[in-house]
Amino acid sequence: MDKQAPDLPCTWLDESVCLDCSLADELNCRHDSELLACFRQRHLGYRALAFLVVGVASFVTGLWWMFLIYAIVTVLNFTVVESWYLCRHCPFYSRDGRTLQCLTLQGMPRLWKYDPSPITRSEQLIMTAVGGFIDLFPLLAGAYGSWVAFSTNAGLTAIAIMIVLTLAMLAAAGYFGKYLADNYCVRCVNFSCVMNKTSKLLVDEYLRKNPVMREAWEACGYVLGDE
Ligand code: SF4
Ligand code: SF4
Repeated sequence: MDKQAPDLPCTWLDESVCLDCSLADELNCRHDSELLACFRQRHLGYRALAFLVVGVASFVTGLWWMFLIYAIVTVLNFTVVESWYLCRHCPFYSRDGRTLQCLTLQGMPRLWKYDPSPITRSEQLIMTAVGGFIDLFPLLAGAYGSWVAFSTNAGLTAIAIMIVLTLAMLAAAGYFGKYLADNYCVRCVNFSCVMNKTSKLLVDEYLRKNPVMREAWEACGYVLGDE
């Protein structure tokens, strides 16, 4: 951790700054390998299932462009685009380096400059559109694949595989969404993410500890509550 860089958010300062901090048990504000490992396991499983569903649906329907587009958008999103509209506003992104050090997309390329101000409305819209596509497309592809298998009499096995995969995708999306909401979004320091549910009290306390971020937020119209 960096002791010599007072402009960095407390997230990256020496752990001694956290002694007696009331936010220590409330926020995911320090790097945590255990939390990251839990997230990775679930995230990789969820994404692998999504690719499997889209792949099998493409095979059943013969529409391989579905798989191609899904693969391009998903890979580009996690390697390049998401870090622009979302991660570069996160305190974890502030530390220099070629790769992202954080609690979720650790190891992805760090291509953009850190911006301590909140995510803009247009970035939030892009996040909603791209995230919505990546999460909903496998379900739609699975449902369409099931219908094509059924309507073309592709055989009981093909129909059953398509339906089971689609239902598994639905269950996985619900499970992963709840895992993220319960373990991350209520404690996440990327406060302006569209999914963030951290309470204003915690946001304000974190901003009071981090003058650079506070100034950037106030310049964008954010008003802190009373102390
Ligand atoms: S808010 Fe900052 S000082 Fe407090 S525990 Fe988190 S990283 Fe440490
Ligand atoms: S609020 Fe949730 S989705 Fe947004 S950056 Fe944090 S963990 Fe990720």
